[in-house]
Amino acid sequence: MIGNRLCWCGSNENRPFSDEYVLCAECGTLISIVGLSDDELKVDDDEGAFYGKQYWLEHQSKDLGFPNIFERARKDLLDRNLHWLRTLLKYKAPPSTVLELGCSHGSFVALLRQSGYDAAGIEMSPWVVEFAKTTFDIPVFVGPVEAVDFGDRKFDVIALMDVLEHLPDPVGTMRLALELLSPGGLLLIQTPQFKEQMRYKTLLETNAPFLEQFKSNEHLYLFTKESVAKLFKQLGAEHIKFEPPIFHQYDMFFVVSRDPISTMTEETAAEILETPSGRFVQALLAQKVEIEKLSDQIKIIDADRDARLQQIHTLTKMIHDLQSVAKT
Ligand SMILES: [Zn+2]
Repeated sequence: MIGNRLCWCGSNENRPFSDEYVLCAECGTLISIVGLSDDELKVDDDEGAFYGKQYWLEHQSKDLGFPNIFERARKDLLDRNLHWLRTLLKYKAPPSTVLELGCSHGSFVALLRQSGYDAAGIEMSPWVVEFAKTTFDIPVFVGPVEAVDFGDRKFDVIALMDVLEHLPDPVGTMRLALELLSPGGLLLIQTPQFKEQMRYKTLLETNAPFLEQFKSNEHLYLFTKESVAKLFKQLGAEHIKFEPPIFHQYDMFFVVSRDPISTMTEETAAEILETPSGRFVQALLAQKVEIEKLSDQIKIIDADRDARLQQIHTLTKMIHDLQSVAKT
């Protein structure tokens, strides 16, 4: 129990939400009031720390129910990584430099490099850093980002996928991330989307997908679209564009920058990928489009079948009622 964690916005006025979270009355962010202290969130000892080796080898699969990291290294490439890449290709072309904070097993960094980006990752556990390096032959720094000396090095893109909500000091870390960007650079962010009208009781009653995000040890801040825009505006990054998230049931996905954000057409992005390794990425992206089309068709077919079943049910009932009338 760490008592009342102040909101990132500085306000200490909040309203009760659940046993583990309070709602900031000022900015609408949900704040975890239980869980680990800021010191316990550091990885000083890879064997014992919360975000150390065991977070990856046991916690993720045993406690959170995700596939293990070996499986994830293969599977993520085909769903979330492709979705993220497709979005990034709208805003920044290879060979832009990309740094992924919290790169986990490293598959997104690997896909970016395959696409022609000069990409690297950061992770906090030395074990997972080694795992990512050897699995995908990619550069990975031992973090947190505050501890890495980049010298004069700047990045065109810094990606934070499922990271922002874990940060004990989102303002400080995002200020640093913005400072590490080159002119016109942007942050690419996926994080849970809390909606201010959500009520804990209703979420429980409807078994809402957002309930999965209440991991109070890890998810210290759950932002709304408005509160996250406020955080970045406060840091001088007022240009923000929300994109469709792959996990639309509970996430938001956006790019944010201090400079106006320009976009690229799909055709331009496709041409840029016409390199020997980029062609493999193009093939994967094309296949993803086909899979999405098929899955949309299945949804239509399912809805159609449900409507027909409903019709049969209604007609059966009518026949039954008519038969009852005929008997009397
Ligand atoms: Zn607040």
